[in-house]
Amino acid sequence: MTPFARYPVRPVVQPGESLAGYLYRFYNDNHHKVPAPALAAAMQMYQGSEAKQATANSILSVLFGKVAHRMHATGRHINYCQAQRVTFSHHPHPKPEAATQFCPACIEERQIHKALWELPFVEACPVHETALLESCPTCDRPYTWSSLNHDWACRCEIPISEHTCPRASRKQVQLARFMARVDSAWSTGERQSDRRFLAGQFTRCPRLAG
Ligand SMILES: [Zn+2]
Ligand SMILES: [Zn+2]
Repeated sequence: MTPFARYPVRPVVQPGESLAGYLYRFYNDNHHKVPAPALAAAMQMYQGSEAKQATANSILSVLFGKVAHRMHATGRHINYCQAQRVTFSHHPHPKPEAATQFCPACIEERQIHKALWELPFVEACPVHETALLESCPTCDRPYTWSSLNHDWACRCEIPISEHTCPRASRKQVQLARFMARVDSAWSTGERQSDRRFLAGQFTRCPRLAG
């Protein structure tokens, strides 16, 4: 696979951006679809065993080259969930592999896919307080990374940003804000005590511990 350094356009990883979202954005900006092996490697980082993650990591390292450490920053929240035994397999509504969800208003404003939207139990956008969109209201098919069209559009070519989402419930917004705090404490390296406090909240809450 061709390392990112050899592509003409090299977008910078944005704070809070997901790994799969960055891959999509990188190739999109270069007018390509994400190559199947790169997408498969990203999915292994999310859902694979440790051995598969190591293989996936070496594939992604070829792409990212010297900026591989940035990718690790993006993927750190995934490791955090695994460390807390709150893996994607514990999600009460497991999503098919490579399926994902979006906040259309965030896509409109920032043009990035947020790592927060991939965390278990996150069903709302804490910024816009609306429900996240898992499937396209126009064609009714789920959003998946392999089927996404260029420029953040569904396979039916309707841009994600054109949809409006219903208001999320108070609980959904609170849970999303909590997960955002956990994610930020982990990825920005807040004080160890803060991390421990948040980890404690995680394991004490039966709904979160899965
Ligand atoms: Zn939003
Ligand atoms: Zn559609």
